Amino acid sequence: CLAVCPTGALTEVDQVDKVWKALNDPNQFVVVQTAPAVRVALGEEFGMEPGSIVTGKMVASLRRLGFNRVFDTDFAADLTIMEEASELVHRIQHGGRLPLLTSCCPAWVKFFEHQFPDLLDIPSTCKSPHQMMGSLIKSYYAKTLGIDPKSITVVSVMPCVAKKYEAARPELAQSAETADVDIVITTRELARMVREASIHFDHLKDEEFDHPLGESTGAAIIFGTTGGVLEAALRTAYEMLTGEALEKVEFEALRGMNGIKEAVIPIAGKDYRIAVIHGLGNARTVLEKIRAGESDYDVIEIMACPGGCIGGGGQPYHHGNMEILKSRAAAIYREDRAKPLRKSHENLAIVALYKDYLGEPYGERAHKLLHTSYTARRKI
Ligand code: SF4
Repeated sequence: CLAVCPTGALTEVDQVDKVWKALNDPNQFVVVQTAPAVRVALGEEFGMEPGSIVTGKMVASLRRLGFNRVFDTDFAADLTIMEEASELVHRIQHGGRLPLLTSCCPAWVKFFEHQFPDLLDIPSTCKSPHQMMGSLIKSYYAKTLGIDPKSITVVSVMPCVAKKYEAARPELAQSAETADVDIVITTRELARMVREASIHFDHLKDEEFDHPLGESTGAAIIFGTTGGVLEAALRTAYEMLTGEALEKVEFEALRGMNGIKEAVIPIAGKDYRIAVIHGLGNARTVLEKIRAGESDYDVIEIMACPGGCIGGGGQPYHHGNMEILKSRAAAIYREDRAKPLRKSHENLAIVALYKDYLGEPYGERAHKLLHTSYTARRKI
C-alpha cells in the first residue's frame, strides 16, 4: 500500500510485513527505537485526546509485540546534541564556516542536496538521531551482546516517511552487508501492528525503556517539535563555551508555530544570531539569502514539516489542524519539564558511552560512527 507524503516529496512504503517477518525469525535479535514525537501522538490512534503522553504504554505494547529490546531514540538525540554542539563550538573556535545548519531532518537534507548543492559545507555532518542509534546498536551494542550485527534487526518507529528513504542511504551504513537501520515504520504503522496483535493499548500498564540506550534528558524530547533541536543544542553549547551552568534552560524565543523564528543569544561576550525554520518554502527563502551573502545567522534549525516532527507525514492524520499540533507540542514541553535532567551532557549513560567506547565528542570514533557527508544531486 502506498500513502502520499504531505511534503509532496516521497511516498510511504508500508513495511509492517517486514517487521512481522523479523519478529518471527528465531535467528534475528530485533531491536526497536521510538522517536520523541511518536509518544505524544500515538494515543490519538486509540481514541485518546491530542497531547496525551503514552510513553509507558507504547513501550509496553512494543514488548507485547515481541521486540527483544525497546530503546529510545531520545538517547541518540542527546548523543546528537553532544556531537552537534561540539561541532558548533569547533567551528566557532577554529574559524569554520557559519551558519551551521541542523541535519536531523532527511527531507530537508534531500532538499538542499538538490536545490543548494553549492552550500553542502554548511549543514552539520551529524547523522540524524535514529541513524546514530542504529550505528551504535550494530557496533557497540552488538559487541556488548556478542552478537553478529547481521543477526540484529533494527526497527525505527518514526513520525516520518522520509526516514524510510534515509535508512536506505548507502553512506549511512557501516558495511555493505548490513544497514544500520533495517526497517522504518511510522506512528500509524505501529498503531496498526498493535491492532493486528489485538493488544488493548489503553489497558496497558506503563513500562520503562531498556537500558542503557533508553536513558534520556528533557533536551532530547524537545527534538520532536520545531525549535527543539536548537534549544537542546544551546543548553549544551552554552556550558561548553562559558564553562558555567545555564540556569534558565528554556529559550522561549525559539518556541511556537511561526514559520521563521529569530533570536539573538548572548554567550560568553558574543551575540549569536539564531533562526528556527519549519516548512521548506521558508527554508528556501533563508537559504537564498545565505547564497547571496545577505544572511548573518550563526546557526539555523530547519525542519521540513510544519510544526517539526510532531506534524510529520507518518503521524496520525491532523489535516493541518493547528490545535492538534499545539497540543502535541505542549505535551513535548511537559515531558521536558518532568525530566530530572534537562541537558544532554548530563545524561549519565551518554557520559559512560563516551568514556567506555566513543572517546572524545567529535573525535575519531565518533566521526566514524555518528557523522556523514552530503552529495550534490545536480550540477552546480
Ligand atoms: Fe521527518 Fe518531517 Fe521530522 Fe523532517 S520534520 S524528520 S520530514 S517528520
